[in-house]
Amino acid sequence: MSTQVEKSEQEWREQLTPAQYEVLRKHGTERAFSGEYWNTKADGVYRCAGCGAELFSSDTKFDSGTGWPSFTDPLVAESVETREDRSLFMKRTEVICKRCGGHLGHVFDDGPREAGGQRYCINSCALELTPRTD
Ligand code: FE
Repeated sequence: MSTQVEKSEQEWREQLTPAQYEVLRKHGTERAFSGEYWNTKADGVYRCAGCGAELFSSDTKFDSGTGWPSFTDPLVAESVETREDRSLFMKRTEVICKRCGGHLGHVFDDGPREAGGQRYCINSCALELTPRTD
């Protein structure tokens, strides 16, 4: 996969916190209800913690009850990429930041029907919220 932001593993280790590195670069998953944003209701834009790309809006955030921040849609469809993930004996669809290739989480098809039925289940530590100020 070609990305716009290319860094060595050493550079990522220096830039990211250990938790961010584990998720974004090692496809880790933070514990449910442990992250910063699972219950956040503030308005704003969620950016990639790796590269700053604008990925999700609070407008599409919903309470999924899972303990991870959940969205019905990306802010801009082109900013994320999906690929099949067959790890851990499951068939899932991984969600990746297109700009830096960072692992964000997974997307499932059990989201709110009225909003298209998708649930982007994203790790808090892959995100940084920029609150809306107006
Ligand atoms: Fe990124």
